[in-house]
Order: sequence, then C-alpha cells, then structure tokens
Amino acid sequence: MPIATVNPATGETLKTFDALGAEEIDRRLALAATAFSRYRTTDFARRTDLLNRAAQLLDEDREGIARIMTTEMGKPIAAARAEAAKCAKAMRWYAAHAESLLADEHPSAADVKDSGASRAIVRYRPLGVVLAVMPWNFPLWQVVRFAAPALMAGNVGLLKHASNVPQTALYLEELFRRAGFEEGCFQTLLVGSGAVEKILRDRRVAAATLTGSEPAGRSVAAIAGDEVKKTVLELGGSDPFVVMPSADIARAASTAVTARVQNNGQSCIAAKRFIVHADVYDDFCERFTARMEQLTVGDPMQESTDVGPLASEQGRADVEVLVEDALRRGATARCGGRRPEKPAQGWYYEPTVLEGITPDMRIHHEEAFGPVATVYRVADLDEAVAVANDTPFGLSSNVWTRDDEETERFTRGIEAGGVFFNGMTASHPAMPFGGVKRSGYGRELSGHGIREFCNVTTVWHG
Ligand code: NDP
Repeated sequence: MPIATVNPATGETLKTFDALGAEEIDRRLALAATAFSRYRTTDFARRTDLLNRAAQLLDEDREGIARIMTTEMGKPIAAARAEAAKCAKAMRWYAAHAESLLADEHPSAADVKDSGASRAIVRYRPLGVVLAVMPWNFPLWQVVRFAAPALMAGNVGLLKHASNVPQTALYLEELFRRAGFEEGCFQTLLVGSGAVEKILRDRRVAAATLTGSEPAGRSVAAIAGDEVKKTVLELGGSDPFVVMPSADIARAASTAVTARVQNNGQSCIAAKRFIVHADVYDDFCERFTARMEQLTVGDPMQESTDVGPLASEQGRADVEVLVEDALRRGATARCGGRRPEKPAQGWYYEPTVLEGITPDMRIHHEEAFGPVATVYRVADLDEAVAVANDTPFGLSSNVWTRDDEETERFTRGIEAGGVFFNGMTASHPAMPFGGVKRSGYGRELSGHGIREFCNVTTVWHG
C-alpha cells in the first residue's frame, strides 16, 4: 500500500510520501535506544510536565489536526474534534495518575519475613523501546492511548502508523517534540507493513503493541513470539447489543444508531449485532430502522453530516461483499444494502439494517467494518447470551435491561472484555480496554494498560 493521503470523500490523492530506507530506519532505532537510556532516568514530575505540555498543544491544534484526520480517513469533522479533545484528556489523566499507578508495592510484613528478606518491594520499571503498529480508524486516539502511558512509564515509542494516515502520524511525532520530549522519545517511522518484521526483530526493540485486523495481529505476535518479546493485541470486534423487555426501548434504539454508525461504522467497539427479545423486537426494529434511514450521509467536512465515506475503496468493497453474501443467502434489508446515489464520488455506503441472519452467512462470523447492523430475534436470556457468544470475537458488549438479576447473569455469561449496561461501549482512560478470544489479549488504558509495558521487578534484601 502506498504511503499517501487519499481523500475518501473524493478518491483524490492529495499527498504521497516515500517510505524510509534501511539506513534511516537503523538511524532511528539507534536514536530510540539512546533516548531510552536517558529518558528512563527522568522522574515523574518531569514526565508529567512534558505530557501536560503535549495536551495543551493538542488543545491549541484541535481544529487543524481534526481537519487532517477527516481529510485522511473521512470521519465527520465534529467527531474528529472530539477525538483530539479526548486525547488531550487521556494525556492529562496519565500525567496526573501514572506515579500512583506505578508506585512501589509492599508485600505484607509476614510475607517479607517468610521469604527470608529483611525488606522487599515490587517496582515497575520501564521496558524500553516499544513498537506501536496502529490503524487509521481513530488515527490520533489509538496512538495516544499507547503513547501516554508508555511515556509516563519511562518507555520510548516507535510508531508504524497505517499507510493512509501519514500526515496524522507525522503530526504526532512533531507534537511530542514540540512538547519538549527529547529527540528519539517518540518517532514516526513512515514504512509499509513489510518493514515491520525487521524492526520488530531488532534487538533494540523490546516489545510491540498492535491495533488492527486479525491477520496483522497474528503476524506481529508470531514474530514477537519467535523473538520472545511482549505483545499487546487489540484486534477486531463484533460486539453484541442485547435488548431485553424491561429496557427503555426508545433510548436503546437511539443509542443503537450511534453505537453502530460512530466513525462511519468503522470502530472495533461499535455494536454490530443487535440481539432483541421477541417481546420488543418489532418495536425496537421499527424505531432503530427509522433512525438509521434519517441519518445524513455526505461530506464529512460538513457539520450536519452523520455518516461520511468509508476510509478506503477496499474497505467499502469488503462491506459490500458481506452484505451481498447475506442477501444472497436469505437475509433481508430493512434499509440500505447499497451505495447511496449521492454523493456520486467517494466511498460512501448507506446505513443498513439486515435481519434474518443465519450462521451460514459470513456476516454472522465476520466483522462488518461499515454502517451495517444485523438484527437477531431471541426468545429469552439464555438464547441472547448464546447468540452474543456465537462469534470468534470478544471485545465488548452492550446490554439493555432494568432487571438486576438479568444484569448479573449477563455479566457472568458474556465472553467479552467489557459489558456495558444501558449505554454504549466507550473507552475512558480510567477503565481497562481490551478483549478475549480473537479480539486479542492484554489491556490498554487504566493501571492495567500502563503496567503492560513494565518490567515488574522484585527488589529483595537479605
Ligand atoms: P490492518 O490490520 O491491515 O492495518 C492496521 C495496521 O497494521 C496498519 O498500520 C497496517 O499497515 C499494519 N499491518 C497490516 N498488516 C500487517 C502485517 N502483516 N504486519 C505488520 N503490520 C501490518 O487493517 P486494515 O486497514 O486492512 O483493515 C482491515 C480490517 O481490520 C477492517 O475491516 C477491520 O475488520 C479490522 N480493523 C480493526 C481495527 C480496530 O480498531 N481493531 C482498526 C482497523 C482495522 P499498512 O497500513 O501499511 O498496511
């Protein structure tokens, strides 16, 4: 894939970039290693100042970087601004909390004595140079939620961003440098995915984190496994959105629309499968479909747009194949199921609601990365849990119920890294984020996220 900014609203190539050559990659790896040897000794007060300064700069830059993101991958401009604001908030959160999250731990006096020590502590030390392979869908947020905790822990970062968001990638390197981080603490490597293996195998790289598709995750994890290097993987999702009879159906239906079409439908934690109790199925579907049909599809730079284009021509083709396969095998479209007539240019797709889904359809098992919802009718709670879990993925989940006993049964039954009741899944710096099954492993955000790339060190005194 060429490294280029191609506007998904028009298909026009706006800017192309040369990939870094082997010599330049080597120079940057050396720079990262040198930077780590110094940066690891900085104290929390210094790191806090640097990260708060980055947050302040990002706030000042919000409009400009939002327009770059929208131009590169097509998200509605208001959502791009919100993404930039969320990144600044996460930076401030880690700046404020990292020191306490990574404070020394003290085993009990009885356990210290039992181990034969006079004293003992557990200390979280940085791991080194961490490679981040990141996707285009939240081009700022996916990187910041790695970079903020990594830098606060004393690690340094190398970013291999998706090839279609090079300007956002370069902005991030520049942002950390302007904030005062020493050269080499955070670098963007403009390289294609073919260059990742050599970088990951380099002895100067300690670990890797990847957000993206399952094939990309499998490849990076296999190489890291071969090198015995730590990885965190955040892969796809096909999150269930369960609606039970006790729910507020009007709220559930309107939240369902946002949960499905956020980011033009290209979010790993978007609700994708709507699993509705038979007693409220018709009511929910009518409200949900009506709202999906009312969405404004169009130019993402317009404030009034709800759904912009998909980020790439290939991304739209992938969605079309999934929908056509389902329709051919007997599903019906309550709305959408095709490209809109307008805008004529760009990689747009109509908000779509499919029902009559059966397990032989690809969309039942695969992630639909676009504004396409599938709806299932279930008879009771047990069937709802069974359908929710009938997927290779396990990222997050949403359940709408006002029944406390049901809440407990769903919490115990659903195989996912999150269960969100009466609301939609959203990440927050204080809450762990990540999945089970083919959605990956490890956690981002919160104390769990910052400790992933630490050397958890036992310090024992005889
Ligand atoms: P990819 O997984 O291909 O891209 C994500 C990142 O991984 C990019 O930086 C990409 O680089 C890199 N990459 C791709 N293949 C490899 C590899 N073999 N080794 C190392 N790095 C690699 O996602 P796509 O953009 O192709 O999207 C395909 C599907 O992935 C989507 O339809 C969706 O299902 C899922 N996805 C999930 C995301 C999530 O948030 N969990 C985000 C994006 C996609 P390059 O751009 O240079 O290829």
